[in-house]
Amino acid sequence: MRRLLIGGNWKMNNGIEETIKFASGIKERKLSTEGIDVFVAPPFTSLPEAVRSFKGTGIRVGAQNIFWEDEGAYTGEISSVFLKELGVEWVIIGHSERRTYFGETNAAVRKKIEKALQKQLKVVICIGETEEEREAGRAKEVVEKQIEEGLLGIEYREENLAVAYEPVWAIGTGKTPHPEEAQEMHSIIREKLGNKGDGIRIMYGGSVKVHNIKEFITQEDIDGALIGGASLDIGGFVEMINVAKEI
Ligand code: PEP
Repeated sequence: MRRLLIGGNWKMNNGIEETIKFASGIKERKLSTEGIDVFVAPPFTSLPEAVRSFKGTGIRVGAQNIFWEDEGAYTGEISSVFLKELGVEWVIIGHSERRTYFGETNAAVRKKIEKALQKQLKVVICIGETEEEREAGRAKEVVEKQIEEGLLGIEYREENLAVAYEPVWAIGTGKTPHPEEAQEMHSIIREKLGNKGDGIRIMYGGSVKVHNIKEFITQEDIDGALIGGASLDIGGFVEMINVAKEI
């Protein structure tokens, strides 16, 4: 049985003050994460405060990106060594916003995953097709290629790696696939992952909200959710965690 994994991707939201408020809100609500894994991924500048503030809440802290070198002349980049030093546990790699706005390729994703795992960070690799690709009937081919080029052949322990299937057209749009369609894609992804597939958590992401999370995470091959916009609301995030806990 795979343990459910719920992640809150804050994107470029929540500075230090808001991070403190968010963590206090979580503490006031006496949240328990027993039986599931939960993390939030704040922007880089909020990470030190997040690591401090979320201590004891059961919520782990993740980053939204890393660079694949340890240090050096890479202006503007952040190394996995620095994240490890802070006490960050997770890192999201290959989010569609990074692929779209910052030209991140499968080859770059691969190098980042290799480095993150080598430094004992847990990785969520994001994959998913665009609307155009889906309409052209290429969704399966696109995610398979993302896995093949970005991940296959890398050594990892199953508990240190999760895949987030995030159809690009569902991110931040309020549109979602039918949960059964998502399930179908998840089962394709699991098969593509090969003999380790059974132990790897595959999260669904794309307009997950309080009202629809249950129908996604109760599907056989959906092992949690990566939540963007809706994770910024403390009450809603707690509610979604509670839904996951009851499954
Ligand atoms: C995301 O950023 O990973 C995401 C799924 O965003 P949203 O939930 O806002 O669609």
